[in-house]
Amino acid sequence: MKAAVCRAFGDPLSVEELAIAAPRTGEVRVRLSACAICHSDIMFADGAWGGELPVVLGHEASGVIDIVGAGVTDLSVGDHVVVTLIRSCGRCGYCVRAIETQCDGTFPFDGCSPLSDRSGNAVQQGLKTGAFAEWVVVDQSQVCVIPKSVPLDVASILGCGVMTGFGAVVNTAKVASGSSVAVIGCGGVGVNSIQAAAVSGAPVVIAIDIHEEKLALAKKFGATHVIDSQEQDVPDGVMAITQQRGVDFAFVTVGVKRAAEQAMQLLARAGSVVVVGMPASGVFAEYDPGELASKGQSLLGSKMGSSSVKRDIPHLVDLYQCGTLKLDEMISGRYTLENINDAIASVKRGEALRNLVIF
Ligand SMILES: [Zn+2]
Ligand SMILES: [Zn+2]
Repeated sequence: MKAAVCRAFGDPLSVEELAIAAPRTGEVRVRLSACAICHSDIMFADGAWGGELPVVLGHEASGVIDIVGAGVTDLSVGDHVVVTLIRSCGRCGYCVRAIETQCDGTFPFDGCSPLSDRSGNAVQQGLKTGAFAEWVVVDQSQVCVIPKSVPLDVASILGCGVMTGFGAVVNTAKVASGSSVAVIGCGGVGVNSIQAAAVSGAPVVIAIDIHEEKLALAKKFGATHVIDSQEQDVPDGVMAITQQRGVDFAFVTVGVKRAAEQAMQLLARAGSVVVVGMPASGVFAEYDPGELASKGQSLLGSKMGSSSVKRDIPHLVDLYQCGTLKLDEMISGRYTLENINDAIASVKRGEALRNLVIF
């Protein structure tokens, strides 16, 4: 099969022929229809988080199951599925509490990639998925069946960006109706936090970004106010909108130290900062613990929107099918695998909410 391989951090991906092993016990093979480019892929490809090379990245995908491994009972050949990086055992102390994103179970094929190159050398399966490729072999817990009425290319973005942004609001923060919300960063994750806040009944949803076009888009996803952080002081802007009170929730959807720090300055008493975006390893942020304690505020981390794949993806599909969740509006461009480096460059320039590779 064809796949885009990262052979050196910071270099363009190289499109090559790879071999992919058949699914083993508990796994399925999926013929991919689409894979979106997520910022995490770019962070890994640039070496921000380390990891072994060569590697196939890509983890926000969709396709059709074409082989089912032994021991897989609730999936069938021909099922349309969303593919995610959340691999969960269903039995560990986290899984039984529905905190699948923190699963610490072991899998028989952990660290044993199904991918190899022409010379027979192993190629790593990045983010447990390796979806910049025509096929993936993944654990059965990493896929969720969706109705055939949902366009497969559009469904791909449910696998990470939508689930992460939306879940941060509804699962991690549990934003109640009437809460005020600020979202720093209006990319593919941020706009989903914005639409989740609007769906949750937040009367004030403030979108904050450095790109004017993204702020215009944020309004279409439900932002009631926007702040261009290059034009205006962000804490001043938020205080003016909230009658000097601050917001109940501030979501940081970009992996930027300054944003993680500034979010604390936007909070009302008893408010919460929810950190969603991950900076490079080794980046530290500062905050005033005395103020946090005296104002009864909280600092929360949200991995993949604290999502449960088989609970949340069907819910997101329902919201899409009844017109509440906007997905088509998030897709900025469609590219072939051969042009994947153009798709990545456009995301790096901040032009795209989501660029898709179509197989
Ligand atoms: Zn992602
Ligand atoms: Zn587990």
